[in-house]
Amino acid sequence: MDVSEIATENHQTAAVPNDRPTKNVAVLGATGSIGTATVDVLENLHRLDPQFGWRLWAVSGHRNVDCLLDIFNRASAGDWGPRRVVFSDAEAAAECNARERFSTSQQHHEHANTCQLLFGDEALVDVARSPEVDVLVAAIVGRAGLESTIAAIESGKRVGLANKETLVVAGDLVRKKLANSDAKILPVDSEHSAIFQCIANTNAEPKKLILTASGGPFRSATKEQMHEATPKDALAHPTWQMGPKISIDSATMMNKALEIIEARWLFDVPAERIDVAVHPQSIIHSMVEFDDGSVLSQMSPPDMRMPIQYALTYPRRLPCPAPELDLSQPMDLTLLPADLDRFPALKLGFEVAACGGTAGAVVNAANEVAVQLFLDEKIRFTQIVPTCQKVLENHTFESSPTLSRLLELDRWAREEACRCADMDG
Ligand code: NAD
Ligand code: MG
Repeated sequence: MDVSEIATENHQTAAVPNDRPTKNVAVLGATGSIGTATVDVLENLHRLDPQFGWRLWAVSGHRNVDCLLDIFNRASAGDWGPRRVVFSDAEAAAECNARERFSTSQQHHEHANTCQLLFGDEALVDVARSPEVDVLVAAIVGRAGLESTIAAIESGKRVGLANKETLVVAGDLVRKKLANSDAKILPVDSEHSAIFQCIANTNAEPKKLILTASGGPFRSATKEQMHEATPKDALAHPTWQMGPKISIDSATMMNKALEIIEARWLFDVPAERIDVAVHPQSIIHSMVEFDDGSVLSQMSPPDMRMPIQYALTYPRRLPCPAPELDLSQPMDLTLLPADLDRFPALKLGFEVAACGGTAGAVVNAANEVAVQLFLDEKIRFTQIVPTCQKVLENHTFESSPTLSRLLELDRWAREEACRCADMDG
């Protein structure tokens, strides 16, 4: 299936009126950067769009009990949710007395008595499969989001996909599952949302998808400066407020590598028709070039609430809590070529997107481990990408792995990354 077919198919499905009186949304990873932005969007939609009856039906968080309680109180006070609250880390929940704290909060909200507390990873999958859920926002970080996202696809849900790692690890399998279900993926990642918006109303086949990249905090840094970078330096993203893992991925440009792979599977476009351009202002979120040389782009200020809301309301466009472009001030929109020498992650991204098979699962796992080792100050910033390269080289490639084989390789690659990482570097 090509890009325009996906867009057309998405359009047709989304245009069918939903015969339910409510749009029940499950936000997995609700306590993170994307999760809390989604809660903002839903609160606004609940007020603004009463005929759709938007509700935050379920939320999950891993360890941040305070944030999950805040969301619970906020949504319960406005009677727009939730009915399920999942603590995916059951042990952390027990340590923080989550059950007792929730029942105290529940007593303050008349409508909150029907809310169930659930614990552990299995509960994420149960929520994703729940017949009450219309839309799942996949906002868990890393490979931990894989099973629940796949469960939602198998159950025919609309999935607002922030968790790019699902497509990096198992893109080919996810495409096959999409072909056999009524599920639709609507991209939340701003670049992929931009591309989706550029192609949604055309039957023309794009010649090239051009992903923009801010360049991160080390856009102009030398290799020597990057060698000395601390976690604090690397976490200081110039244009986006994000969770720690994706912030480090942006600094290495592994985030763009993961997005190249994500685009390859989401739009079924081969790696050689994907390009990257550096755009420091993060206003142009990506571009699509057509055969006649015309290039379409989507622009908006860097705020994830815009692509999140579009994934929920598509094909409708409604007022959004994200800011609008301010054209009363001069604005530069710079486009620069990507530097594959200073940012070798990009080369790796194109290579993995071209290989498919087991390559994505292996590089993703190695990267998750290497990022954590860097955040724990066990390896240098400049060791992250070479660790991923070594683990990829050391694995035995398979072109059509099953899901259980991918999960086995994920575990192997994590151990191999610890072994390969140069902790004395
Ligand atoms: P974050 O670290 O701020 O939040 C992660 C969420 O996942 C939290 O709710 C956390 O409780 C949960 N979580 C963490 N480990 C878990 C585990 N083992 N099991 C279950 N839940 C777990 O991350 P984020 O920045 O919101 O990113 C979330 C996803 O969205 C990532 O895949 C990221 O690449 C993608 N994304 C983020 C942005 C952004 O602007 N933040 C933009 C595009 C895509
Ligand atoms: Mg992105």
